[in-house]
Amino acid sequence: MKIAIIAHDGKKPEMVQFLLDHKSILEKADLISTGTTGSHAERAGLEVTKMLSGPKGGDAQIAAMAAEGKLDAVFFFRDPLDKHPHEPDIQMLMRVCDVHNIPLATNPATAELIIKSGRDT
Ligand code: PGA
Repeated sequence: MKIAIIAHDGKKPEMVQFLLDHKSILEKADLISTGTTGSHAERAGLEVTKMLSGPKGGDAQIAAMAAEGKLDAVFFFRDPLDKHPHEPDIQMLMRVCDVHNIPLATNPATAELIIKSGRDT
């Protein structure tokens, strides 16, 4: 199963903790991520296909994959307390997930529920 993982800078520590907590499940999945998030995931010991960094278009690349039916879930740990230059891309990714009914978790608690539901495995 293919899961996209994205975390804004303020949420990267939580994202790494999430990856470590669920490593045994996630290492069986096909992981895609934005550039910097992917580097953190690699340092946590996971294999991941890295797209561009979010502000350089990585969210848009992942949105395109979602639109093409290539993703089973998106874990997008957004930081609601910070501003982002690529806000239009962020909105687009969430919109595309809703258009195509793709499970979208915007925080670790929801991502955990998706993992436990088995929808992504
Ligand atoms: P990053 O992008 O993983 O390259 O930091 C995430 C984002 O800001 O969307």
